[in-house]
Order: sequence, then C-alpha cells, then structure tokens
Amino acid sequence: MIIKNYKNKTVLKGMSLKEIEQWCQSQELSNFRAKQIYQWMYRHGVSEADNMKNLSKDLQKKIDESCVLETLKIEKIDESNTEPTQKILFKTIDNHFIEAVSMLEGNRHTICISSQIGCNVDCDFCATASMGLIRNLMTGEIIDQAIAIRRIVKTPITNVVFMGMGEPFLNYNQVLSAAHILHSHDGFDLGAKRITISTAGIVPKIEKLIEDGYKYKLAISLNATEDDTRQKIMPLNRNWPIKSIIKSASRFAARKGHNVMFEYVLLKGINDTAEDAVRLANLIQGIDSKVNVIPYNETDGKYQRPSTETIEQFLKILNKNKKGFRILVRWSKGEDINAACGQLAVTNI
Ligand code: SAH
Repeated sequence: MIIKNYKNKTVLKGMSLKEIEQWCQSQELSNFRAKQIYQWMYRHGVSEADNMKNLSKDLQKKIDESCVLETLKIEKIDESNTEPTQKILFKTIDNHFIEAVSMLEGNRHTICISSQIGCNVDCDFCATASMGLIRNLMTGEIIDQAIAIRRIVKTPITNVVFMGMGEPFLNYNQVLSAAHILHSHDGFDLGAKRITISTAGIVPKIEKLIEDGYKYKLAISLNATEDDTRQKIMPLNRNWPIKSIIKSASRFAARKGHNVMFEYVLLKGINDTAEDAVRLANLIQGIDSKVNVIPYNETDGKYQRPSTETIEQFLKILNKNKKGFRILVRWSKGEDINAACGQLAVTNI
C-alpha cells in the first residue's frame, strides 16, 4: 500500500517535480511554483509552508491546510561510544518504526536508509527478517530519513546507501523516485555514483535497472558461492540462483562507467572456507567489480563471526586469486548501538 493521501491531505513530500506541477495545475497555480516547492522541500528541507519564503501567504496557507510535508517523526537517536555513528529511529504517520544510520569517516558522511518497514526476503542471518514485511515506504518517507539526518548531523551528506531495512528492489518505483530526488540539482544534488542501491538478488529488477539506464551504483548481496549454501541462508536463491545473478551483474557492469559491488557476509562455518574464497574469485572474475567482505555482526546467536585468522585467511586467498576486481573489508559501524549491517530491527522501543 502506498499512501498518496493521508486524512484527506495530499502527501506532497516525495513528489517529483512533474507530480508537483500536476498538483499546482489542479490548484490553478502557475507551474513555476512547483520548482519553488520542490527546492524548499528537498534542497532546503523545509517542513512548514510558512518557511517557504517566496510563496504567497495564501499559498503557504493552502499547503499547510491541505498537504503533508513531513512524513516521519524522530523517536530516538542512539550515538555510538566508539565512533561517529548515529542510529535514528523514526515513527511513520501510521505509527510504524524504521531506522536509518549516519556514519562519518574522514570527509565522507554516508547515510544508510531504509526502503521498507520490515522485510519479507527472509535472509536467515539478518535481524530485519524477523519483523516480516509491514509495508513499502513511500518516496517521502525515504527522503525524510535523509532530510532529518541532514538536520541532526551538520556534516553534509556525501553518500547514500539503500542498505537499511528492507529490499529496495521490492519497492523499486519509490526507491528510484527517492534516488532521483537525492540526485537532482534542485534536491540533494548528489552525484549518481554516490547513491548505492543494494539488493539481495532480485534479478528481474537488476535487469530493469539496466533497461532504465540510471547511473546509480548497484550492490548485490551474494553471500555464498554455491547454490545449496545460498539457498539455506537466502531462500530467494531458489528463484534467482547464483548463475542468474552473475549473468545480470556482468550485463550491468559491461556498460561503460558502471561496476558492481558484491557484498559477502562472512559467516562462521557457512561460507568462510579457502574453497569459498577461490570459488568467489572465479565466479566474479572479469566483472568490473568490488567485493565488500563483511565480517558478520552477531544478532540472535544463530550465526557467528569467523575468527580473525579465518577472516584474514579468506581475504588472503581471495586476494591471491583475484582477477580484475577490488576487495574491501567492511568492519561495520555502530555495533554497540545495533546500527551495523543486518542489525536493524525494531525491537526495544
Ligand atoms: N535487502 C538488501 C538491502 C539490505 S543491505 C540486500 O540484501 O542487499 C544489508 C546488507 O547487510 C546485505 O549485504 C546483507 O547481506 C548484510 N547483512 C545482513 N545481516 C548482516 C549481519 N548480521 N552482519 C553483517 N552483514 C549483514
């Protein structure tokens, strides 16, 4: 369900410029007003019409009375004691909760945002899976996470990753609309390559992203090198096995200026052997890509992080066998506040 109207109010937040123009037409307003409203909402992050300074008082009043300009309320902010990472808990207008994370490192301010309330992809190792899927987020709710973080954390946002709660490709249209606002010069003005959409491997949507021709970055959570293993930890592998993912990933990366990031969560005794490292190197050889090895962040005790020696050994073998891809280790941020990869699940509010 997507909320377009809420209590007879139009949800303006999240609309594209075209949609705001249509709304302006329906209100018998000139088209140029649409761009002003767009810039106030997204470039300036204004959530009260009174602060949209170049609009007439009448129009401000009309917007205030008939439109929703803010879709989320901040419920709680957790700050890590060990690094400049914050986890923000939001409440939606229909009283659900979602989380986003802000991470500062050098000149980078990366935010990790949610695309759904909960998730039904059911990856066995991921805490969000335990929530099930409540609903897709609207574009406005996706953007409001970024707007709120921009208000809380003064350092400008440099990167956005759709790696929070949910499977972005099962909410493709809203996620892409949000990415366009982040990218737009009149919105957040972020380069397309600074916006990464991460998927558990919904192959038809990878194909759609190729067809649509957008320049956003793609991350794929591969997480295993054999179908048997992947099926156990990621049941969606039954629909889209490793071979089909690799095929789409190569098609994606074969286009000029595109590459793929493969995420590989290292799980003790599951996917962390020397053979796995060799198989991983062979699977992705020749694809313009980067492998992001993520030592598992423990959640409910079912899975463990491998020992440091095993992790190092895995990386060493991967590195020795690598053919044309880069390797990166992601020691996740904000573990002490359950803000790390796969730890986002609304439990204790
Ligand atoms: N559904 C999308 C977006 C979520 S991204 C996807 O699967 O890509 C979350 C990333 O964190 C994924 O790469 C996932 O494999 C990884 N992850 C999930 N649980 C984790 C955990 N407990 N520790 C480390 N990484 C985890």
